[in-house]
Amino acid sequence: MAVHERSRQLQQRAEKLFPGGVNSPVRGFRSVGGEPPFVARAEGAYLYDADGNRYIDYFGSWGPMILGHAFPPVVEAIERAARNSASFGASTGAEGDLGELVQACYPGIEKMRFVSSGTEATMSAIRVARAATGRKRIIKFEGCYHGHSDGLLVKAGSGVATLGIPGSAGVPEEVASLTLALPFNDLDAVVEAFEQYPGEIAAVILEPVVGNAGCIPPGEGYLDGLRKLTSRHGALFIVDEVMTGFRLALGGVIELYGIDADLVTLGKIIGGGLPCGLFGGKREFMDLLAPLGPVYQAGTLSGNPLAMAAGIATVGYLREHAVEVYPKLEETSKAVAEGVAAEAANAGIAIMTNRVGAMWTWFFGDSAVTNYSEAARSDTAAFAAFHRSMLESGVWLPPSQFEAAFLGTAHGQVEIEATIAAARAAFAAVTA
Ligand SMILES: *Cc1c(COP(=O)(O)O)cnc(C)c1O
Repeated sequence: MAVHERSRQLQQRAEKLFPGGVNSPVRGFRSVGGEPPFVARAEGAYLYDADGNRYIDYFGSWGPMILGHAFPPVVEAIERAARNSASFGASTGAEGDLGELVQACYPGIEKMRFVSSGTEATMSAIRVARAATGRKRIIKFEGCYHGHSDGLLVKAGSGVATLGIPGSAGVPEEVASLTLALPFNDLDAVVEAFEQYPGEIAAVILEPVVGNAGCIPPGEGYLDGLRKLTSRHGALFIVDEVMTGFRLALGGVIELYGIDADLVTLGKIIGGGLPCGLFGGKREFMDLLAPLGPVYQAGTLSGNPLAMAAGIATVGYLREHAVEVYPKLEETSKAVAEGVAAEAANAGIAIMTNRVGAMWTWFFGDSAVTNYSEAARSDTAAFAAFHRSMLESGVWLPPSQFEAAFLGTAHGQVEIEATIAAARAAFAAVTA
């Protein structure tokens, strides 16, 4: 058994300082049990905890670390930028540099604005959509997570799903009632909502490949159907690529499935591990923002020079090496996802694997998962036991059945084999 003495001490202190001992709920391991290791450092595909234990990392800071931890070009870019001061609160050329890079990956983003988190990106995009349409209601989908702003917490995924919270205390009914939460992958539900609230729906927002209820791909024609419905009813189509952007393809799901969005939100990878988000899209909507237009939105640290430097190094590398990076991510992810699934099958354990590129989930159950209510039927106790066993074997999976696993370019054959061997032992222990 690995030693966790130091992590245990740090946890005791953290519980006195932070609610639940954490600064973001899912880090607390509430749904899988066991003790969360405290991280001391990370390099490439590996996390090292405060007691010196090593883990293969399958959550990559929840997405950003696609090039592996402490990737030298990113570290150097941050160091160089830091020497010129951490923040100015005035415009820099770096914002334009990253902006042009984003546009090269997402040609549909005619204008954009940097923020400091995915939460701010989606919240601001919704504000723009309401201003553009003069309407109040929005449609989101059950199990999709778009950050923690009030109106977007209705039937949200991620930690909200993990902890089984239907919405959130502290969100006024009046605000929540403007959000219609519909089942994912069900176009008829969207048709009906537009009929029920004619001229009232400002926008449809979604995770185009869901990650925050576990990985759930869109069905054939679903994204296209949403695009057509929103256009027909004068609502904006907001594609939240905070998780999928630069991960499933250089130009995210927009490129992968060839969709046309009015507004796109980005985060995670775009900051290379530093706090950064972005919302952008069609000029006619983005030009509604102050100081050009009447929609107010601002941020003291927006376009922060360290975040821009890390983002330029990360997105720049991905763009330059896209022809090697994305096929490699696909190959490695396929090997891990299918290798572990094969071990489960050998052990007679039912799991359903949903995967799109370097993003996947092993749902513990025997039926297809195409929406949140199907995901919610998973055997979370079996997932929890699997998670604990994998962690003990040095494989750190996202600590929830309802969070997608990720890997990056630092993962290779050694990690694939170690992960599959750990899974074999985990499944053997369950069936013994
Ligand atoms: C993580 C995430 C967010 C929220 O981003 P934060 O930076 O945590 O605020 C929004 N949307 C999606 C799809 C996400 O995965």
